[in-house]
Formats: sequence, C-alpha cells, structure tokens
Amino acid sequence: MFAFSPRPEYPIDRDLERLARKIDASMTRNWTIMEASGEQTRMLFEHGVDSLLPEKLNIVHGPGCPIAAVPVDLLDHAISLARRPAQDVILCTPNDFLRLPGRNGDLLQAKMDGHDLRVVHSSMDALKIAREQTDGKKVVYFNAGFAPSLQMDALAVWQARKQGIDNFFLLSSHASVPAVLNHILAEKDSIVDAILAPGQICTITGFAEYEALSRTYGIPIAVTGFDAKDILEGILKCVSMLEGGRFGVDNQYKRAVNRQGNVEARALIDTVFEPATRLWRGLGGVANGGFTLRAAFADYDALRVFPLDTTSSDGHCQTHADECISHEIIRGLKKPSDCPYFGKACKPDMPLGATMISAQGSCSAYYQRLRAI
Ligand code: SF4
Repeated sequence: MFAFSPRPEYPIDRDLERLARKIDASMTRNWTIMEASGEQTRMLFEHGVDSLLPEKLNIVHGPGCPIAAVPVDLLDHAISLARRPAQDVILCTPNDFLRLPGRNGDLLQAKMDGHDLRVVHSSMDALKIAREQTDGKKVVYFNAGFAPSLQMDALAVWQARKQGIDNFFLLSSHASVPAVLNHILAEKDSIVDAILAPGQICTITGFAEYEALSRTYGIPIAVTGFDAKDILEGILKCVSMLEGGRFGVDNQYKRAVNRQGNVEARALIDTVFEPATRLWRGLGGVANGGFTLRAAFADYDALRVFPLDTTSSDGHCQTHADECISHEIIRGLKKPSDCPYFGKACKPDMPLGATMISAQGSCSAYYQRLRAI
C-alpha cells in the first residue's frame, strides 16, 4: 500500500487489528487484490485500514467510480445541451458531475454562465421538473452509475411513460461492474489475483455474474461490504482462497446480499434497459459494459432527440493532462501516488483527470487521506 501511517483520530479497533494479523499470518507470498468499488477505496482510507495491512498485500483500486468512466464525448454533449442557444433544455444532473472535466470546460461553468442547469438528487427529481414545465421545455437528465442508479433511472423512465410525460429524456452512461472487470482481467498485463466485489451493487444484481468471472479467470472473488471490518474480512476470504489454491465466490456481505439479488429491481431494469457495448474513459470500448434504453422506451432517449455529433473519442481521452495515469490506475497497474500531478497540479478543487473529481474516485480518496495525516 501507499505508505500512510495510522490516523490518530481513529484509534485502531482491536478486532480490526486481529483480522489484519490473521491476513498477515495467512500469507506466504505477495498477492494483489483489486477492490472494485469507490466506496471501498474511501472506507479503506477513512478508517485507516490501509495502515493495518501487511506490505506483501498489494491493494489496487479498480473501476469503482462510474463518474470517472463517463466518455468525454457524452460529457461534452451534456455541456452543449446545457448551453443550447435556444434555451429550450433544462439539464438536470447530480452534483458529482459538475466538475467532471470535458474538452472545453465543465457543467459548473455552464451553470455559472447562467444556463438552466439544475442539480438534483435523482432522476425522480428531474421527472418532477419535467412535469412542471408548461412552456414546452425539454428536461434532460444526465447521469452515470452502477445498478442502484440504473434502477432509479429505470423507474423514472417507467413513470414518465405511465404518466404520459413526453418532455423527459435520459442522457446516461450506466455501467456494469462484472463487464468492466472482465475487460480488465482479460488484458495480458493484468496483475489482479483476486477481487473484492462491491456489496452495495450486489444487493441489486446478486453475484451470479461474478461466479462466471471467477470460473473464467480462475480467481477468487469476495462479495464485500463497506465498513472496515467488512473489507478486512473480504480480504481474508480472498487470501484464504489464494493460499489454498482455490477460486470461487465467497459472500462476506450476507446480511445484505444473496445470489439472485433484488428480483423486482432486476426485472424493472431489464424491462427498460438492455446491455450494450460502451466507451469507458481510460479503457475504450467495453463489451456489454453499459446499458441502453430498449426500443419500447426509445422516446425517452436524449440521444434520439439530440443526437451526439462528436465521434472522435476512442474513450482514452484524459482531457486536460496528457500524463494523467487514471487509465492505468483503474486497471490496477498504478496508484494515484505514482502520478506526477497528484496533490500538486491535480487536486479535488482543480481536477485534471476524472478519478480526482468524485469522492469515489481513487485519486480523490488518496488525496483526502493525504490531507488527514
Ligand atoms: S492525480 Fe490527477 S492527473 Fe494524476 S492520475 Fe489522478 S486524476 Fe489523473
């Protein structure tokens, strides 16, 4: 791990120390475990768990931040919709997207320039704004996320159709964690020995897709929750399987996750969306890595009403900083502290790359940890 010392404001819990010692005692060699959730990255640091782990354990940070993954073309499109001279669009988006760097500025600048851009908590808020319009303005909801966001957006589109709201449109870049992990594990230079699967997302999706991943690549996967003890237990499960020469999926987060997930939520998602290949910033095209609205709901697709007119990006664009290494960080090949910009030219209030923006981005999590020392 990056050489942080324990945080004085978090006296280390004896249970956590015991778990960390158990992990250490179980390891006969170096292993690399990828946590695939921005929330886990944050919690690793917030509770000082990182400082408990043995040096021979390499924890790397995968593609756990959906905001960091938004393709630049789509972001630029959202910015151009917010800035439409006709002023016939209200762009709604969660707060996290305001500082995401596009090629020429960000959404925050569009808002500061006086365009009608509204920060909302969810697609249901945007739907309410659409319902309230009496002058024909179109409401475009720009969002990206994993299954929990996908579920909310599916519900909003479903409700829009049920309520006959025809001025609500979705501009989304939702992502599938198993698909992007598959992409990373299939790369020749992958160094990942095991994975902590994101428990919060698995509450909806279940973990059958992770079983397929584990079989394909012969790696252990632990479905893991988000508090410090969860993370250490997930790591211990992975290490035990690795040391025993076993692979499979072990569910650490049994209190919230079962194999089939939330059947109703999955059915709603499946009714409204279908899997699609999508561009992932820093990775390029990821097969079945995203979702598109099914034909029956195409009337709510913002890209049908406002087609994307830029096709230049291959998904690798790092926007402002040529030396930004976030594409290597999300593959687990490097860490934020390896970046020459980290904490100097690149900070959360002036991000150069996408992984510094959201609290779920690994560069941002490292930066907050650094500041806390
Ligand atoms: S610190 Fe900034 S420039 Fe460096 S990898 Fe992270 S986001 Fe990119």
